Amino acid sequence: MIIEKNKVVVVDYKLQKDNAQGELVEETTGRDPLKFIFGIGMMIPGFEAELEGKEAGEEVAFQVPSEDAYGEYQDEALIDLAIQNFEVDGKVDFDNLKTGKMITMQDTQGGVHHGMIKKVGLEQVQVDFNHPMAGQDLFFTVNIREVREATESELDHGHVHE
Ligand SMILES: [Zn+2]
Repeated sequence: MIIEKNKVVVVDYKLQKDNAQGELVEETTGRDPLKFIFGIGMMIPGFEAELEGKEAGEEVAFQVPSEDAYGEYQDEALIDLAIQNFEVDGKVDFDNLKTGKMITMQDTQGGVHHGMIKKVGLEQVQVDFNHPMAGQDLFFTVNIREVREATESELDHGHVHE
């Protein structure tokens, strides 16, 4: 059975930055494999494009340029927020505002955004809302372990059941 839309795909994979010599980001080998439903937007487009039409037992290695992965780095996503946004009970806890810390913020429409604190000033805090992998080319080594039909309830829920 080949990988195509609405198939459940189970893979071991290794992710490196840039190329086959790049820094290791994550690896599933020897741990729980990655399971996903193909073609429904669960995975980055460049990853799915390389796996389409492949079968269980195949191993593929490929590079995904940043624009087909987590997108280009957007300067507009680097935002200065007034320090008042970080007040709790009228006070800013500067011990808790550290460069490199990941934070979650809710916008007025209820959308949730993850960002990383870049700079802490007395009046403003600069937060980077880019994906941590934005602007980064990725290199995957993928071992395809299983390809099967997704069940109706898996397609309904948009995730793989054990
Ligand atoms: Zn479910």
